[in-house]
Amino acid sequence: MQAATPHRLFPVPEWREKDPMTQPQDIIVIGAALNGLAAALALGGRHAKRPLDVTVVDLRDPRGFATNNSDGRASAITAAARRMFEALGVWQQVAHEAEAMADIIVTDSATPGAARPVLLQFGPEDMRGGPSSHMIENRHLHGAMLAEAQRSPHIRFQVGQPVERYHFGPGLAAVTLADGTVLRAPLIVAADGRNSPAREAAGIRLVGWPYDQMGLVATVEHERPHHGRAEEHFTPSGPFAILPLPGNRSSLVWSERKETAERMLALPPDAFEEELRLRFGTHLGEVKLISGRHGYPLSLFVAETFSGPRLALVGDAAHVLHPLAGLGFNLGLRDVAALADCIHDASALGLDIGSGSVLDRYTQWRRFDTVATAAAMDGMNRLFANTNPVLTLLRRAGLMAVNRLGGLKSVFVTEAAGISGNLPRLLRGERV
Ligand SMILES: Cc1cc2nc3c(=O)[nH]c(=O)nc-3n(C[C@H](O)[C@H](O)[C@H](O)COP(=O)(O)OP(=O)(O)OC[C@H]3O[C@@H](n4cnc5c(N)ncnc54)[C@H](O)[C@@H]3O)c2cc1C
Repeated sequence: MQAATPHRLFPVPEWREKDPMTQPQDIIVIGAALNGLAAALALGGRHAKRPLDVTVVDLRDPRGFATNNSDGRASAITAAARRMFEALGVWQQVAHEAEAMADIIVTDSATPGAARPVLLQFGPEDMRGGPSSHMIENRHLHGAMLAEAQRSPHIRFQVGQPVERYHFGPGLAAVTLADGTVLRAPLIVAADGRNSPAREAAGIRLVGWPYDQMGLVATVEHERPHHGRAEEHFTPSGPFAILPLPGNRSSLVWSERKETAERMLALPPDAFEEELRLRFGTHLGEVKLISGRHGYPLSLFVAETFSGPRLALVGDAAHVLHPLAGLGFNLGLRDVAALADCIHDASALGLDIGSGSVLDRYTQWRRFDTVATAAAMDGMNRLFANTNPVLTLLRRAGLMAVNRLGGLKSVFVTEAAGISGNLPRLLRGERV
């Protein structure tokens, strides 16, 4: 690996309110959850060819994420995202915690439990290039990224207090933390989640709507092995996904109408487990809840632009989608990888990494892809929730037709693996 020598490739303008307590850096990343850490590693990690100086700020201490499993979610990581984690030195640390999806089945039924005819199936013969995705609990990925960031000499952390004020140039951007500390840099990368205070402060608006649905998340243990099979059961109240984890365990993402979901969350554990068993079915034998239950409000939102003066939005700060295809974090990783290309390219040429032309390239690269994916997820959610009998018939006939067309299925698998289109270097597994 190339020696990580400090460097600054462009002149840093003087900040008017000079504060001797703070040093300038290349980039401030707001948010130390999944997308913030990925951005920090892509821009300033040990495996970057020319790491930039990155300071990561978060109102929470990110070490809590890895130890108390407050997130509760697991993510389906596409083949492209896996390559990116390899290039960042993360996958090697967590591969043993991941389960390859060997087989995916899709059903469409109003009946909970066992009576669900399979309408569409993606098996090993459709995934000749290897599994399209791996399932892994977020806490493992987060823990490995955090450890890698802590080992990276160009990444610093300033956590435990919120950013309270934002300044987006000209010249330098700055954030003021709750204790009055001012951090300045040519660029702010906001990975501060769906309510992104940085996006708000920059006046970037959102397009989209909330769903009358919640995503209930839990982990279960079952008697019989899943053999790497992922199951997506579409029901009128939303998809119920059973996603394979290592061992006889599965992660559940159960989308339900808000009112029902809130009622489920308020049930005593035994009663909740009973409801869950009804939907899970009996095909994997006895099922036991082995985690807490988490409820996430579901929505579709895309920011009108992914950048502003000296500001780039990544992850949920830029877009929130329905989790039915498990793509939200993967889209965030696409943002990070594209941003890393734009910034490292500009940095190598000695250009200002926070300039409008660099950030415009980033927005143009990412926004169209995101809007297209978000619209597809929204369409699928609506189509499968519709109980009109004619539409139901057409939908099922359509799924069965796709199931018979091997070529079309391979196209879907390639798309799901995230390995098609104009891929940034990290998603091709190359270092930046
Ligand atoms: C039910 C469900 C299942 C999902 N399953 C999948 C899946 O299988 N695959 C997939 O790819 N995606 C999935 N997703 C999407 C994925 O989980 C999210 O896209 C991802 O977790 C978002 O991460 P983030 O880092 O962008 O934001 P967040 O996790 O929201 O992190 C934001 C961070 O910013 C910090 N912050 C906020 N404000 C401030 C401030 N003022 N100052 C300092 N710090 C601040 C917060 O403390 C937090 O740490 C799923 C989503 C849901 C709801």
